[in-house]
Amino acid sequence: MDLFDKFDPIVELRASLPFEKADPFKVVMDEILSETEALINGRRTILAGTNNYMGMTFHQDAVDAAKKAIDDFGTGTTGSRVLNGTYGGHKALEATIADFYDVEQCMVFSTGYQATLGLVSTLGGKDDYVIIDADCHASIYDGCSMSNATIVRFKHNDVDNMERRLKRIPEGANKLLVVEGIYSMLGDAAPLKEMLTVAKKYGCMTIVDEAHSMGFSGKNGRGIAEAEGVEHLVDIFVGTFSKSVGTVGGFAASNHPKFDVLRFVCRPYIFTASLPPSVVASADASIKAIKRSGNRRAHLWENANRLHAGLRGLGLEIATDKAESPIIAVKMPDPMVGTRFWEELLMEGVYVNMAAPPATPAGIFLMRVSVCAQHSTEQIDTIIERFGRAAKKLGLIELPKF
Ligand code: PMP
Repeated sequence: MDLFDKFDPIVELRASLPFEKADPFKVVMDEILSETEALINGRRTILAGTNNYMGMTFHQDAVDAAKKAIDDFGTGTTGSRVLNGTYGGHKALEATIADFYDVEQCMVFSTGYQATLGLVSTLGGKDDYVIIDADCHASIYDGCSMSNATIVRFKHNDVDNMERRLKRIPEGANKLLVVEGIYSMLGDAAPLKEMLTVAKKYGCMTIVDEAHSMGFSGKNGRGIAEAEGVEHLVDIFVGTFSKSVGTVGGFAASNHPKFDVLRFVCRPYIFTASLPPSVVASADASIKAIKRSGNRRAHLWENANRLHAGLRGLGLEIATDKAESPIIAVKMPDPMVGTRFWEELLMEGVYVNMAAPPATPAGIFLMRVSVCAQHSTEQIDTIIERFGRAAKKLGLIELPKF
């Protein structure tokens, strides 16, 4: 017996997947040519599987700010936020995010994963209840595992099911509802208005993780709560810099009067080094730019709608009836076809995410396509055309419709 034996089924599953020319989980981006193109295996490839929704990775303000911060402050802080790792830039970024969300307070974490993990694990105490959507992200699940609370799971995006669960929780207990704005695998939006209204009826504190909705949802790009006009029902916003913001890091923002105590009790905030000054500076510049990026937002939605319509027009099965986000998830009939489909697309110069369980819900296999505000209309049409070719080759559709 070996401690690694428990992973044998995963090794076997991977070995059974029929890819020949590229391993979907070992792709190397040899050169990044722009927000939307890379060299992969020497081939110029359209990137249609990133979280770079707003295309901020090469935004001039963000690049300049990062370079200047390296020159002025060095490459890293070498310390925790609560010791030597808080620089002026971290405080300035917290102020920028508090302003962006129009709240009083913000804490910047080293990743979005740690922000959610930290909030859920720290707030969920012994006699408390944490209520989560069944499809929520691993960071929320891991926060639940680390917490001492009782965890209550409800069916994905099902408000009635959520209410039934809430009714069974003893009266007087502290309750924390944790949901996401957009779910990253299927690209579907949460019915936040109904959900948060019901949650408040039962006295829940609410956390909304806007990781995949910040940047393009809502008038100012704050996320689904803004788009649905229910920000007043959100107690804590959580988010990441690794998607629309175009770098790495995470945050929590709130008006709760006792919020600041988390800096002294939240282990994923305390027991890790803070973000390097260059990352903090680019996140700050990027968020400020996102606020005034109405044109990018509009073009991103045009791209998402065009891609959704195009892929649906081919006769492919898509997870949502319309584009609810820049994520368009195409369902595959099984892992074998999915793997070959993914490989065909890559060989045709289009990279998408191959998404498989346990990352996907209900054991489904997906080509997770995501668009960027910097994709041109021609690139979107190329992606659709290449999907058509691959689908035809693999017998998923009869005839491509162009
Ligand atoms: N929350 C959600 C909903 C996510 O999808 C992700 C990343 N996929 C995270 C948090 C973690 O973000 P980060 O990459 O900053 O760790």
